[in-house]
Amino acid sequence: MKGRLLNIERMCVHDGPGIRTSIYLKGCPLRCRWCHNPESISSEPEIGFSRSKCVGCGKCAEVCPTGAHIFRDDAHLFNRELCTACGKCVEACLPGALEYYGREMSAEEAGGAVLEDKTFYATSGGGCTISGGEPLWQAPFCAEVFQLLRQEGIHCALDTSGAVPWESFETVLPYTDMFLYDVKHTDDLVHREHTGSSNREVLDNLKRLSECGVPIEIRIPTIPGFNADEKSMAAMGEWLSGLPHIVGVRLLPYHLARSKYETVGRPDTMPDVPPPDAAAMAGAAAILQSYGLGAVA
Ligand code: SF4
Ligand code: SF4
Repeated sequence: MKGRLLNIERMCVHDGPGIRTSIYLKGCPLRCRWCHNPESISSEPEIGFSRSKCVGCGKCAEVCPTGAHIFRDDAHLFNRELCTACGKCVEACLPGALEYYGREMSAEEAGGAVLEDKTFYATSGGGCTISGGEPLWQAPFCAEVFQLLRQEGIHCALDTSGAVPWESFETVLPYTDMFLYDVKHTDDLVHREHTGSSNREVLDNLKRLSECGVPIEIRIPTIPGFNADEKSMAAMGEWLSGLPHIVGVRLLPYHLARSKYETVGRPDTMPDVPPPDAAAMAGAAAILQSYGLGAVA
């Protein structure tokens, strides 16, 4: 079976226990305003264009079969509507101004890439994490990769937004050692306004998953103007404290990713807010700790 990947990163230390290889899959049902990986949102392959790296050599226009690269008045215009994501211009672009997002890879190839660093997992208590985007949009692929890795004794973690039908969890549950689960807000209206979707499925799935006995680390993207305030953190703390098998809560500070939106030609709707400082993150963690949660910022 093939999956559609954004990339594979080695030596990750923030995607679960120990040293891990993280496989990032493409496609996500949510439209979080603060998303710092806008290239992971679409489930279709696409081309990233970094204008600052372009030297204007015109090689891309020479090889493009659809005329998507246009040079006019010394300006390089990229007409995405004409692009069929054949990838020819990416290969021709020597300065690396063009990047291909969404290459397909078989479960065997992805699993093989993870196994290359097997010795690091053994010494650090690490393993493999599949993330996204939303990896459970490709749940059968995740299950197949994990099945292969589990046969080799590799710890398998899945990092999810939870915004998928419960059946997707059932597909991966038999092969998953741990879930990293994003919780963003307990208020449905606020969640809808900032992510484009209701939180009902996210919270219902988390409740159900917590009753399955598999360890879950909660991840809270901490966003000023959305959920970084005391009331929002307290509501999440209260809700989470009633769930079993939550092994930790990790607060992830918002950081800017404006240029990435331009690279993939997506509108950036995040208001101009400064990232939370260390004191704000510690304060948010303290609120969650007051509900008995092992929260770290
Ligand atoms: S091939 Fe790359 S560097 Fe050359 S014009 Fe195209 S995008 Fe720019
Ligand atoms: S990926 Fe193919 S169709 Fe798209 S711009 Fe590059 S060469 Fe043209």
